[in-house]
Amino acid sequence: MDTHIGGAAAPRALYIDGAWQEIGRTFSVFNPADGSLLAEIADGGAEEALAALDAAQRAQRGWSAVAPRARANLLHAAHRLMLEREDIFVRTMTLESGKPLTEARAEFRLSADFLLWFAEQVAHIHGTYANSSNGGFRIVVAHHPVGPSLLITPWNFPLLMIVRKAGAALAAGCTTITKTAMETPMTGALFIQVLHDAGFPKGVANLVHTSDSASVSEPLIHDPRLRKISFTGSTRVGSRLMQLGAENIVNSSMELGGDGPFIVLDDADVDLAVDQAIICKFRNAGQACVAANRIIVDRRVEPGFTERFVQKVRALKVGNGMEAVDVGPMISAKQRDRLYDTLQLLTKAGGEVLTGGRAVQSPGYFFEPTVVRFDARNDVMCSQELFAPIATIFAVDGVAEALDFANDTRFGLASYVFTRDLTRAMAFGERLEFGMVGINRGIMADPAAPFGGTKASGTGREAGHDGIYEFLERKYMAVTVGEPRETVW
Ligand code: NAD
Repeated sequence: MDTHIGGAAAPRALYIDGAWQEIGRTFSVFNPADGSLLAEIADGGAEEALAALDAAQRAQRGWSAVAPRARANLLHAAHRLMLEREDIFVRTMTLESGKPLTEARAEFRLSADFLLWFAEQVAHIHGTYANSSNGGFRIVVAHHPVGPSLLITPWNFPLLMIVRKAGAALAAGCTTITKTAMETPMTGALFIQVLHDAGFPKGVANLVHTSDSASVSEPLIHDPRLRKISFTGSTRVGSRLMQLGAENIVNSSMELGGDGPFIVLDDADVDLAVDQAIICKFRNAGQACVAANRIIVDRRVEPGFTERFVQKVRALKVGNGMEAVDVGPMISAKQRDRLYDTLQLLTKAGGEVLTGGRAVQSPGYFFEPTVVRFDARNDVMCSQELFAPIATIFAVDGVAEALDFANDTRFGLASYVFTRDLTRAMAFGERLEFGMVGINRGIMADPAAPFGGTKASGTGREAGHDGIYEFLERKYMAVTVGEPRETVW
């Protein structure tokens, strides 16, 4: 495959202690658009994971002592280098994840914005100074890096997920070990190469690919030198990692699965809602944690909404992301094939397939953009993530039913509500039990916003004001000022 652009190529090795290391074992990466072999990537295990932790531990003290301005300068340098390499990032993302070039470019630019955000945040980490309750001493609170951090990322946003974690961790003064998803290792490698070229000290940012995630994560989490896990992926794996981390009380941030309700109230701008639902549902072939999982529409506007939505879905062009298409392939044959079971589940529960419903004949893993309509509320998709180019529409009777149905899930990541009445939007938004509520919009990611979920969707927030604090711990110093005064117990 050609990941060479202008002489540059995505490295295939592991990056440990400031150097790329071949180890003699590899796993294969395939292009989901045609099933072809893209590359052989170094296949790390426990030994390499622990070597990366050794390096991260050695570098931790020095890295946390680097002045904020110097840390910021390195992140700014990385940001500039990233921008120079846009084309190879975009092309590599499309080749290994399948997403159309336009989406890869949008992800690239958003990722660069996140890196810039963290570069700007470094110099603005503030503590507090306060009087004690009895007035006898002072309370000085400062923030310190948590320590060596394990960053585990999924394949569906192969660049954004790494930048959102590594940017915050490095800005906070933590050293890192990144474990990419085996489907999309090269995008992560390009980012680590950027950090290397920007001049980050050795041991600060390490990268371990693997075909056996547990062989890397488990020895690291069992090692008390590891102080943080930041994970994005499924709730099942996140829960397992939290259980493992409990042994050493490892600080953890979890960005997990979602079941996003997309609610269209009776006074909504239906055209706007349709356009936003198309993006929210079919971006990345529906493989997004914040995708619209259940489209819940007030019965009074549902026929018009559904008619326009189906029209637009039929017009979506499916194909190889390297061409001008709207929807690329699923990540693997397995992910595509499971959709027949999903459709069976939906139709058995009373859903009517209005368009789509089949795999596209091709060497790649394509599935037709599909719409399934339910004439009433139905819990078949509550707490089940579709993660596919299948939209489910449910007609409901009024605001109360819409809200109750929307909240009927164990997840709590993204939700959306469409109405022309701002007061109604606020009242509805406040009652949605989700970490994020899009009001009259289907896309919410922004460096200035705290991204994250409640309930089974995870703990912690990425980016915004809060993201950097996920990698910092507060330390409080009690300072005697003048005569120590006795504390009254
Ligand atoms: P996954 O949990 O299977 O994999 C995610 C990452 O975890 C990959 O790097 C994978 O290799 C790794 N992994 C798997 N088993 C592991 C183990 N035992 N130890 C350590 N690492 C392990 O998820 P997926 O199917 O690749 O991604 C889809 C899921 O991720 C969906 O549920 C989606 O909603 C979620 N997701 C959440 C967010 C968010 O920000 N909340 C963003 C993207 C994806």
